[in-house]
Amino acid sequence: MTATESPTDITAEHAPPPAHLATTAGNYFVTNYPPFSFWKPEFLPELHAALERPPAQRSTLNSQLPPVPLGLYTHIPFCRKRCHFCYFKVYTDKDSAAIKGYVDAVLRELEMYAGKPFIGGRKPKFIYFGGGTPSYLSPDQLKYLTDGMKRLLPWDDAEEVTFEAEPGTLTDHKLRAIRDLGVTRLSLGIEHFDDHILEINGRAHRSKEIARAYAYAREIGFPQINIDLIAGMVEETEEKWIETVAKAVALQPDSLTVYQMEVPYNTGIYQQMKAQGQLVAPVADWETKRRWVDYAFCEFEKVGYAVNSTSTVVRDANKVKFLYREGLFSGADLLSVGVASFGHINGVHYQNQADFDPYLAKVNAGELPIFRAYPTKPDERYIREFMLMLKLGSNSRASFKAKFGTDPLEQFAAALALLKDWGCLTVDGDRIVLTRDALLQVDRLLMEFFKPEHRSTRYA
Ligand code: SF4
Repeated sequence: MTATESPTDITAEHAPPPAHLATTAGNYFVTNYPPFSFWKPEFLPELHAALERPPAQRSTLNSQLPPVPLGLYTHIPFCRKRCHFCYFKVYTDKDSAAIKGYVDAVLRELEMYAGKPFIGGRKPKFIYFGGGTPSYLSPDQLKYLTDGMKRLLPWDDAEEVTFEAEPGTLTDHKLRAIRDLGVTRLSLGIEHFDDHILEINGRAHRSKEIARAYAYAREIGFPQINIDLIAGMVEETEEKWIETVAKAVALQPDSLTVYQMEVPYNTGIYQQMKAQGQLVAPVADWETKRRWVDYAFCEFEKVGYAVNSTSTVVRDANKVKFLYREGLFSGADLLSVGVASFGHINGVHYQNQADFDPYLAKVNAGELPIFRAYPTKPDERYIREFMLMLKLGSNSRASFKAKFGTDPLEQFAAALALLKDWGCLTVDGDRIVLTRDALLQVDRLLMEFFKPEHRSTRYA
């Protein structure tokens, strides 16, 4: 959508996209833009050129601003067991020699980037260990990895270090080791508190392990503990969800993230649907999942938490920040290392080789293991940032105008008029604010901001 398109382009027939009542297979959430299907191996020369340029300014309109911040993402693709709803590339069969080889490759990959001009003397402002299960690594492996990373790109400017953990992998010794690495936010993948739900969905941990790991993590004083839940796992019921939310409230986490269950094609659940000739996944419909998330939000709000995105509540909004999420959404450089990881440097998106052996082969041959890239255009960067930041609930017109040169009300006139017509948002002076109902289903509305050439494709 461009500034030249006006709200008069809207036809009366243009109705909100269907509410996806049943959960069918496919990716539902918008996590990047343009869609991944437009990222291609033939754009690799643009990525290589971007690595050789100094860091970009935050805004081409104001050269006084410091360069864009740098973040660092490290992907650890190992898990104890594959969850039935998992759509990530994970490995459950690697021995310690293979893991050591992987950790060495990640360090070698980071070393290839560390001397490049795009770093420009920056140190990472935020660091994220995702997976897979980063806590699958032993304390020794973690120390070896992070010591090596710190030698290549020091962490002394890092304001946030996030570490994803599966409760069943956390011994007291490992929790102390994770804290001592400098982790500021421990993100616990609890997903549910009911053992039967955990089991039937293929999770490796059980409620006892959650209680033990959480209590010890609290005792040793992580600055922030986030817990993840999933609304709509297989065999979820109203009663079980209410119980799970009550248990989550009782833990008093610093923040809570609640995902709505989606069933992408590469999940065990979809494989089973296919074998049985079913089109609808054996999980709650979207309306029910949204209601369950809303219920969780309301229960947390009753005890003083604030909603700060489509899936998150925080206990103290002044203290609990999500620098990784905000950096990622607002166009920071994200140097990503590890198999299948997604990054963004100097305006160019990239993704690494998605399989273990090709990833290792490239790195061990002294080459960057990048599989595909996409050089974003200025209007695409505006769309991307506006859409992703809207997932936090509201956007400031003035800050987008200062950064991109036009008021979003002009830039996205047609899309914003539609969403307003549908009762999804209001414009309150400087702020463009989503209603709670729209916030919980924002992903299905975001297509209205896509450029026409990106709309006809499946999202992922
Ligand atoms: S723990 Fe997370 S990454 Fe590992 S299989 Fe389960 S959902 Fe996937």
